[in-house]
Amino acid sequence: MRVVITGGAGFLGSHLCDALLGRGDSVVCVDDLSTGRRENLEDAWHSPAFRFIEADVTLGFDVPGPVDAVAHLASPASPPDYLRRPLQTLAAGSRGTEHALALARRHGARFLLASTSEVYGSPQVHPQTEDYWGHVNPIGPRSVYDESKRFAEALTTAHRGALGVNTGIVRIFNTYGPRMRADDGRVVSNFISQALGGNAITIYGDGEQTRSFCYVDDLVRGLVAMLDSEHAGPVNLGNPAEFTMGQLATLVRELTATAAPVLHRELPQDDPPRRRPAIEHAVRTLGWRPVVDLTEGLGHTIDWFRSRSSDPRGVEAAVAG
Ligand code: NAD
Ligand code: UDP
Repeated sequence: MRVVITGGAGFLGSHLCDALLGRGDSVVCVDDLSTGRRENLEDAWHSPAFRFIEADVTLGFDVPGPVDAVAHLASPASPPDYLRRPLQTLAAGSRGTEHALALARRHGARFLLASTSEVYGSPQVHPQTEDYWGHVNPIGPRSVYDESKRFAEALTTAHRGALGVNTGIVRIFNTYGPRMRADDGRVVSNFISQALGGNAITIYGDGEQTRSFCYVDDLVRGLVAMLDSEHAGPVNLGNPAEFTMGQLATLVRELTATAAPVLHRELPQDDPPRRRPAIEHAVRTLGWRPVVDLTEGLGHTIDWFRSRSSDPRGVEAAVAG
């Protein structure tokens, strides 16, 4: 297959590039490098089957040559990134998705939308099943991300129904692993870089809110399975093991053997109090389930952050590139 990956220089996208190149596909990465980095593609650059196009997908783009599949991942993803770039985030979900769908349609290609558990907002159903419609504040600070992804899902569904595009939607739950930016503001990268840097670990609120963390290798297996299928979805992809942020802080402190103190900060507005994917649909339709538990996955991630922290500029600078 020749696969176009928008957002391919980002955390998840670069792992998807590597996985597809590794099994013999050709990959075209389209990215504006707004939150992604060239270093994430260090391995991919070595492959003659890899091509990089620097472009903003919201402005429209084309890819010369054949296209068998389009995986649309281009969007700011961490809360600080999308809060800093509210209009670009809405544009990525709307115009960006429209341009990516148009590319798939022109080529009769499979289209995969990387949607998110954030479409469930602050969920009133737990765990979240795909048939739950969600509970999103349309004018709250997170709406730029949540509503942009909800619109992207609607646009994708309409392209399937009205234009016959072979589309699939996955809803990705919190994923972590090597290549997260130390400064992207998400909880796993924050806790690890704080612990390794000997700084206080910042828990927002009382730390009783929960998330369910999926290791990147597991998640990418799910993306590939969905890309290879003809399922419309939406399909939740995530690890259902649920942890409070207090438990996560304890685990990171143990695994890094840090004596760094814990500091409580104000909980951001509309921060969902709990989140856990129901993954029966993914198990049934894709034969997919995660296999890496949090302790093992955090171990790999901490090792990677450590390997970067030999950079004399320190861990945060090293990982930020
Ligand atoms: P990331 O920020 O590392 O990657 C996003 C990539 O998209 C970056 O390389 C960035 O430069 C690129 N990009 C952003 N806007 C663009 C534009 N207009 N044109 C071209 N490129 C653009 O984030 P990530 O964690 O790898 O997330 C990838 C996708 O997965 C996103 O769509 C995100 O919403 C989704 N997702 C991720 C998670 C997670 O836990 N990582 C959870 C749910 C959904
Ligand atoms: N969080 C935290 N400390 C941090 C960063 C985040 O306690 O330094 C909390 C945040 O308030 C949220 C959870 O961790 O409740 C997950 O946050 P993240 O930004 O990783 O993802 P999302 O909120 O999008 O699930």
